[in-house]
Amino acid sequence: AKADGKGVARRFDPAQFAEAEARRREENDLRRALDAGEFEVHYQPIVHLNGERTVGVEALVRWNHPERGLLPPAAFLDLAESLGLLPRLGGWVLEQACRQAAIWQAQEPGFELNVNLSASQLGNPDLIDEVRDILDRTGLPPSLLVLELTESVALVDLIESARVLGALKSLGVRIALDDFGTGFSSLSHLGALPVDVVKIDKSFVQAMQESNGASVAEAVLQIARTFNLAPVAEGVEDAEQASRLRELNCAQAQGYHFAKPMPAGDLTALLHRQSAL
Ligand code: C2E
Ligand code: CA
Ligand code: CA
Ligand code: CA
Repeated sequence: AKADGKGVARRFDPAQFAEAEARRREENDLRRALDAGEFEVHYQPIVHLNGERTVGVEALVRWNHPERGLLPPAAFLDLAESLGLLPRLGGWVLEQACRQAAIWQAQEPGFELNVNLSASQLGNPDLIDEVRDILDRTGLPPSLLVLELTESVALVDLIESARVLGALKSLGVRIALDDFGTGFSSLSHLGALPVDVVKIDKSFVQAMQESNGASVAEAVLQIARTFNLAPVAEGVEDAEQASRLRELNCAQAQGYHFAKPMPAGDLTALLHRQSAL
């Protein structure tokens, strides 16, 4: 390669320019979308494995893009986080979902709502007040809200996370560790975090059919039991996985085998059908 003479370093690079331009456009698009109300919350049923009744939902954000259609979080969440938009977007999701869950609550008493928290939300000093205000405004009983965060988010600053989670729990909400088992380095810290629920990562559920798979899922469930945490299996895609989990005494599960994430109206219809049974 040539030495970095000024002429070389400053030469116009069309590809690089196009890339920067595309990113800038996407950033503006994302900022605009929040004000334009293009985000929606979808809800995936969480079922009791004994009887497969829907006992709650996980709220999952979608971007209903005017040109690109319905986009999954993988298409925009990292960019939103890096632009500092997640406290606002996440706050919107939380309020929207709590409002909806308060309605379902009237139809199906005890119906639970899980909402994901991002790293920047957990690090936001206003989080506790915001959650309290949203619960007040929407009337959702705090005991029906479960806030999910991944181990990697919680372990950025263990002491601080333990403090924030403790403050959230004093509001009466519960805490779930998401993608549980994928961050085994943190196992020794598990006792330090005030956690109530663990979401068993789908990789363990989906590995169950393989020769060694069952023992991994079993081990993860055993850890949950040891720490007195309620397990919810994620990514259950077929009846065989569901019955294996039942044999392993996992009470709750979530996955395409039961239902995919759906708009609020479809979930309302599902609850109507369920209560007619
Ligand atoms: P997650 O919290 O682990 O959510 C579960 C993901 O697994 C969802 O993907 C869901 O659609 C998908 N899923 C459910 N059942 C199955 C199954 O049987 N098989 C497979 N292969 N996948 C299944 P989704 O909706 O694309 O969300 C991806 C991730 O985006 C979530 O993973 C979560 O980390 C994040 N996310 C979604 N909504 C929000 C939000 O409002 N705030 C924050 N901070 N993160 C969110
Ligand atoms: Ca989750
Ligand atoms: Ca998960
Ligand atoms: Ca995940």
